[in-house]
Amino acid sequence: MSARAALTHLLEAARDWHEALPEFRAFASWPEDLRWADRPAHALPVIDHLTRDPGHASDQSQPLRDALVAAAPHVEWRHSYTEAEVGRDFLNRFGWFELAGPSGHFLTQSLRVTVGYWGPGLDYGWHEHLPEELYSVVSGRALFHLRNAPDLMLEPGQTRFHPANAPHAMTTLTDPILTLVLWRGAGLGDDPRMSQ
Ligand code: ZN
Repeated sequence: MSARAALTHLLEAARDWHEALPEFRAFASWPEDLRWADRPAHALPVIDHLTRDPGHASDQSQPLRDALVAAAPHVEWRHSYTEAEVGRDFLNRFGWFELAGPSGHFLTQSLRVTVGYWGPGLDYGWHEHLPEELYSVVSGRALFHLRNAPDLMLEPGQTRFHPANAPHAMTTLTDPILTLVLWRGAGLGDDPRMSQ
């Protein structure tokens, strides 16, 4: 399958996922102005981990998980964080990419749709950003932390909202996690920053 075919199939699976999750529909409407950006692939070690161990999916999330695994070799994977910030093991088993947004595989200014994968046994430390965020779990599970809120173990189809500039963190235990995440509001092109 070509990169464009794999990513177009993935975009359709992500749109179906958005349509199926009431929290996602309430957070933002699906962008109508998406344009293919022909962005080159950027490989990272995370591709092997995601392919070998994508995590348990639900019946509802399996089409999106499978589309993500199929698209993984064609994606512009990013780290954003440095080894000094998160460590080598974290960088070897983590990666994210922008499916849609200001610098995504499909361009839009109205919403940012990103995908992240973390292997088992990783601590994603406290970080924050201006845009409001809604996480969804596609496969696997993890413990989500949000300042001044209870920790939550989230599984496929479950979501968590992070307010603007609210520090949050995540811990994977014995499972990996594959997430699809929405950002809305000012600062859509920003990177998250580690909390001080
Ligand atoms: Zn975040």
